[in-house]
Amino acid sequence: MAVPQNRVTKSRRNMRRAHDALVAANPHECPECGELKRPHHVCPSCGHYDSREVVASAVEVDLDDDAA
Ligand SMILES: [Zn+2]
Repeated sequence: MAVPQNRVTKSRRNMRRAHDALVAANPHECPECGELKRPHHVCPSCGHYDSREVVASAVEVDLDDDAA
């Protein structure tokens, strides 16, 4: 088993961990549906990006179309 050759001091350990903090998400409001979405990402709620629908939303698929 590998064994550390030198002890890592609290100072060096904490200096290493200085960059480990999580950054908060920066959600933006979707201009189409108003849901919060990640900037520069397709809206997971309505499938729009840059005011265009790029992902067909499941809401518009009508599975009962043939039953009628
Ligand atoms: Zn949206």
